[in-house]
Amino acid sequence: MGNQRGDLLLKELNISTFGDLLEHYPLRHINRTQINTIRSLNLSMEYAQVSGVLLSMDIVGSGRAKRLVAMLRDQSGLLELVWFQGIQWVQKALKPGVQYLCFGKVGFFNGKPQMAHPDMEMVIPGKTSVKNYLEPIYPSTEKLKARGITSKLISSWVMLILQKLQHPDFPENLPDVILQKYKLFPRLDAIRCIHFPVNEQQFHQAVRRLKFEELFWAQLRIRLVRITRKKNAKGWVFDKVGEAFNTFYEKHLPFSLTNAQKRVIREIRNDTASGIQMNRLLQGDVGSGKTIVALLCMLIAADNGFQSVMMAPTEVLAQQHFQTLRALLKDMDVEVRLLTGSTPARERKEILAGCAEGTITLLVGTHAVIEDKVQFHNLGFAVVDEQHKFGVAQRARLWGKNTMPPHVLIMTATPIPRTLALTAYGDLDYSVMDELPPGRLEIKTMVRNESARPSVMQFVRSELDAGRQAYFIYPLIEESSKLEYENLMKGYEEVKAFFPEPAYWVSMVHGKQTAAEKETNMQRFVSGDTQIMVGTTVIEVGVNVPNATVMVIESAEKFGLSQLHQLRGRVGRGAEASYCILLTGNKLSNDARERLQIMVQTNDGFKIAEKDLELRGPGEIDGTRQSGLLQFKLANLLEDKRMVEAVSEEVDTILDADPNLALPEHLRVQQFLKIQRGKTAWSKIA
Ligand code: ADP
Ligand code: MG
Repeated sequence: MGNQRGDLLLKELNISTFGDLLEHYPLRHINRTQINTIRSLNLSMEYAQVSGVLLSMDIVGSGRAKRLVAMLRDQSGLLELVWFQGIQWVQKALKPGVQYLCFGKVGFFNGKPQMAHPDMEMVIPGKTSVKNYLEPIYPSTEKLKARGITSKLISSWVMLILQKLQHPDFPENLPDVILQKYKLFPRLDAIRCIHFPVNEQQFHQAVRRLKFEELFWAQLRIRLVRITRKKNAKGWVFDKVGEAFNTFYEKHLPFSLTNAQKRVIREIRNDTASGIQMNRLLQGDVGSGKTIVALLCMLIAADNGFQSVMMAPTEVLAQQHFQTLRALLKDMDVEVRLLTGSTPARERKEILAGCAEGTITLLVGTHAVIEDKVQFHNLGFAVVDEQHKFGVAQRARLWGKNTMPPHVLIMTATPIPRTLALTAYGDLDYSVMDELPPGRLEIKTMVRNESARPSVMQFVRSELDAGRQAYFIYPLIEESSKLEYENLMKGYEEVKAFFPEPAYWVSMVHGKQTAAEKETNMQRFVSGDTQIMVGTTVIEVGVNVPNATVMVIESAEKFGLSQLHQLRGRVGRGAEASYCILLTGNKLSNDARERLQIMVQTNDGFKIAEKDLELRGPGEIDGTRQSGLLQFKLANLLEDKRMVEAVSEEVDTILDADPNLALPEHLRVQQFLKIQRGKTAWSKIA
């Protein structure tokens, strides 16, 4: 095609090899396999192809209304053809009296059939025949079209390559067992049929096969990353459950564990006894009870002579965890301490010494706990709360804390749809707690317009007067957004006007406060000193005030679904019925309306996450690492959910039986991996 066009193709569509071109899949196809009679044309057929003799050609109208009109006749009737552009060129190219194949969009004008700008092909008897495949239409760009690289030209290149292609050039890369089980097209057939299928069914079969392949390779690779790491990552062995765990479990556990909690503890226990370092992601909906799971695991670590750290994303949350753990462990001989950025110097010194000597068994805190200055006597277990984005670099800081890295448990309430978990997070082991402790009441959620504010306030007052507490949440304050800050302040004044002191007291927490200010305000609310908390999403994660029963979210349409779900999770934590009121402005987009309706319909974090994925796409979902890697050409993590899961099972089966891909039936898989190595950045995500 020449260097210039080659360069352009690379720049515009990132195509540089035959393989790339073959993977430049058509957007759609047009069907020119049939000839319609003119009489049979109707509006239900979007495109049609007729064969007839060109009769007259006339230029009619003038100025902007100027057009070329021609008539085409077959045995059944007359078809009007119209051109508004390129009139001279068309007039020169077409010859009256000659037979043409004519393809285009069918329209009707004054009850007569018409085609504007049809595709015309002169019929040469004996040579021209109707196409026996669907014609591909390729995505292109303006720049390419300007250089004459049209869909037609691309199609002819692809056709040429496919004609020359033999099986060894485009080797099968899926095992035969899978091809048979799922009745998948062989690879070369699939690539042929996605470009030039004879009918729609064949096209769908081709797409199905190629999607399967895409998902297969994505999942196989990420799972290989995990296997490799496991092979190389020795871990501390926690081989016993001892006194600390047993005493706590038998004497101090304030409730019985849910089945989900028990299952997850068993999973972690297996991991930590295996001699391989654990990297486990624990997803549990808000309120599912992740903290106690973490504590029990840290007690197992203690029983084996190891220290643990528990890290929270904010000072407020770290503080709360500390208090929770200290209360739970008050009758036990386990030293828990809190270390954050605002720990006074003297106390800090004491804590650092305690960690180094090993007298401190559990260290709770913010990122302060992984600073280099913090050295441990024998760190064996690390819990990272509410940060599924806790990156590799951060994890790596834990590595140096002992002669071998500690086991790592990452906890998050952000539901990760299973399809994402299998693909994007396939390098971590994954546990789900899909069960809430018994006795939780459903949170009633409603959407209210701005104008209903007085009655909403009335309602909040009745809850407060019954001894409960309430949250008012305003959209996030960005450092730069003066307007949002003003809104928050206005809201604060408004709330105070509705709920005047001294009958009511109001706390406020936002991102512009110092850690100490946040802390004081939060603590006053937690202890019940204040009944109302006005804040931004800084209170989003983890905070636990069971007496709070009302969550009012201002301008709710400005929040994402997952965020709304997180916020709503701050209520419904006690025995009382709880409410979430979504206040909205007057002008709501359909999209926003739909989102808010989902909140009303379900309390299920997984359903909400799937909807979120659907509305926003995987590239944007909160916490998707390396989202670029999730840009499949054909597969769609939502629509192809069932296939993602089927593929996942197949990949597991293969790797369980043959982790090195050394069996003869996996030879082609291994070879394909070799060919592809270096082409993608897969190794980097480890
Ligand atoms: P999250 O998973 O959102 O971090 P928490 O660990 O904060 O949830 O637990 C939420 C609340 O549920 C806490 O008050 C906790 O004591 C309570 N809880 C946890 N597990 C159980 C259980 N098995 N039965 C009853 N209450 C539980
Ligand atoms: Mg939590």
